[in-house]
Amino acid sequence: YAKTAGKHRFQFYEPRMSDSLKARLDMARALQHAIEYDEFVVYYQPRVNTSTGELVSLEALVRWLHPQRGLVPPLEFIPLAEETRLILPMGELIVAHVCRQLSLWKEAGLPVVPISVNVSPRQFNHGNIKALFATRMLQYQIESGLIEIEITESSMMGEQEEISSELRSIRALGIKLLVDDFGTGYSSLSQLQRLAMDVLKVDRAFTSELGKSEEGEVFFRAILSMAHALGMTVVAEGVETATQLRILQSLDCDEIQGYFIARPLPPAEIPRILQKRFLIDMPRQIVFPLEM
Ligand code: C2E
Ligand code: MG
Ligand code: MG
Ligand code: MG
Repeated sequence: YAKTAGKHRFQFYEPRMSDSLKARLDMARALQHAIEYDEFVVYYQPRVNTSTGELVSLEALVRWLHPQRGLVPPLEFIPLAEETRLILPMGELIVAHVCRQLSLWKEAGLPVVPISVNVSPRQFNHGNIKALFATRMLQYQIESGLIEIEITESSMMGEQEEISSELRSIRALGIKLLVDDFGTGYSSLSQLQRLAMDVLKVDRAFTSELGKSEEGEVFFRAILSMAHALGMTVVAEGVETATQLRILQSLDCDEIQGYFIARPLPPAEIPRILQKRFLIDMPRQIVFPLEM
């Protein structure tokens, strides 16, 4: 009887399931096409020093320039790319984009800063991340100090041993390692230090609490004191207001990123940014970006 009921239930949902399955298949096919014809654009979001406003780095954030849909944000295609493993060829394209872009800016004589690249758990488990970066950096003559890698906290939870040796070998190339969305997973700081992580990017969920409740401030205070004791740099993600910025300055948070400073920008807008400084004059007022 249970079997019949189960079967019945399955049939009831089948049309919807196959609809969504069909949509996913269409999407996967479109993504495959997008990879073949490289329909991706990389935007760059500044990360700045909290007290000096100096540009520290640019985060590479991919967008899909879809022929019909226009600019598609990553959260609408990265998850499927991860499930279908299309993230592997896509990830290669993104690294190539970033290295080519850096070499173009360098050739133009611009004062380049490091670029941080987001790497998915899937890429970690199935691709050779180290070779992927090393190959393109060699091709485009990019010094290792100009590349950083962002890995989400949750993706470092898996096979500790393998991941830790891979991370070490990447770091041995001189590439900085950043923990993305910190605070959303369950890693301990000592674990992250053992993995030789250089920078903690505190998830914007905590930043958005600043000024609203005690919790956000308490969290930042604790993380900052421990991270600093362990020699790690702390970044607040998603800074959207002057209040949040002011609190982060008073807490001595090292670096900040967020719409209040700058949104992710198309490559054409970056040369201007590279020659500017985001002056953050505390506590009187915030003036940015300031022409130099
Ligand atoms: P993420 O790495 O944590 O990137 C931060 C996201 O927050 C970006 O969204 C950024 O635009 C957004 N953001 C920055 N400042 C603020 C702010 O002040 N307020 C708010 N509300 N949002 C802010 P985006 O570009 O849509 O990217 C979403 C996620 O997609 C990224 O999260 C990252 O996990 C993933 N992603 C993006 N590019 C790549 C990539 O090249 N490879 C991989 N594997 N994943 C990527
Ligand atoms: Mg990131
Ligand atoms: Mg993040
Ligand atoms: Mg995030």
